[in-house]
Amino acid sequence: MSANLIDGKAVAKRVEDEVAASIAQLGYQPSLVAVRVGNDPASEIYVRSKAKKADELGLRGHQAIFPEEMSERDLLAEIDRLNADREVDGILVQLPLPKHIEARKVIDAIDPAKDVDGFHPYNVGLLHLGRPTLAPCTPAGCIRLIESTGVPISGAHAVVLGRSDIVGKPMAAMLLQRHATVTICHSRTRDLAAVTRQADILVAAIGKPILVTAEMVKPGAVVIDVGMNRVDASFAETIAHDADKSRLLAKNGSVLLGDVDFARVREVAGWITPVPGGVGPMTIAMLMKNTVTAAIARRRA
Ligand code: NAP
Repeated sequence: MSANLIDGKAVAKRVEDEVAASIAQLGYQPSLVAVRVGNDPASEIYVRSKAKKADELGLRGHQAIFPEEMSERDLLAEIDRLNADREVDGILVQLPLPKHIEARKVIDAIDPAKDVDGFHPYNVGLLHLGRPTLAPCTPAGCIRLIESTGVPISGAHAVVLGRSDIVGKPMAAMLLQRHATVTICHSRTRDLAAVTRQADILVAAIGKPILVTAEMVKPGAVVIDVGMNRVDASFAETIAHDADKSRLLAKNGSVLLGDVDFARVREVAGWITPVPGGVGPMTIAMLMKNTVTAAIARRRA
């Protein structure tokens, strides 16, 4: 048996089409400001692609770029300015921030009504109460991917690997809200495989390359792989059974792996996301959706 592939690009395109359609009906362009401090190359790419996608869909995407040495106080003043700017609907601060700036303070300073990443404690609280809010984009994207399979979440046993504030915890809250029986695992969980084998829906968000093996997966399960782990030639032997990844590694000197051993788990699972092309494309799509939601809610308030 080989699992059905969950095509993240196709599901993300559907979300983007919904976003573009609702913007066309609004009569104004919601605006998103992506704040970046410093020159982290990955952050540069993320912020640029978020602003570009916003423009593509009919939002106004801006990048607010500040030097590495910017003080925490100055950044907080910028956030205040964006909070007060009536033209700004969504604010996101690209993480990580330079070490001298406390990310938590900066996130706490964002107006919850403009917090399109869904990281502000107020929005986190609403999410855990099961009330409408701006939900974190990656787990919200995972929900859309699970829904795209048609496998019911209600009543399913969902196992979430990882308890981070940006993926694991909100993922668990969203699955619970949809009436799954939820188990959260983390680095102290005993006999991980015994728990994961019970999962009808398994979400892996741990950041450990191909830790989830076929023996850990219940036959027919929906497997969502959030992990993004770039590995080098030292992994050649570990992924020798995966012809596609081995070819890419030989060609490029590095390759992107998920937390799930895709080549083997696909023989057991019912549904599975690839890496790349699974969860990744959903995150930006859900960010755009949150920006439209924030714009509508704020302008109605
Ligand atoms: P994180 O903050 O490092 O959290 C990792 C979690 O995994 C922690 O809760 C940790 O447990 C748990 N863990 C680590 N090793 C484990 C093990 N051997 N067994 C069981 N649990 C283990 O990571 P994150 O920010 O949630 O990200 C997770 C992965 O998703 C990363 O690869 C990241 O790059 C990727 N990601 C992808 C997207 C996307 O858009 N596709 C977005 C966000 C993140 P403890 O709490 O006990 O330490």
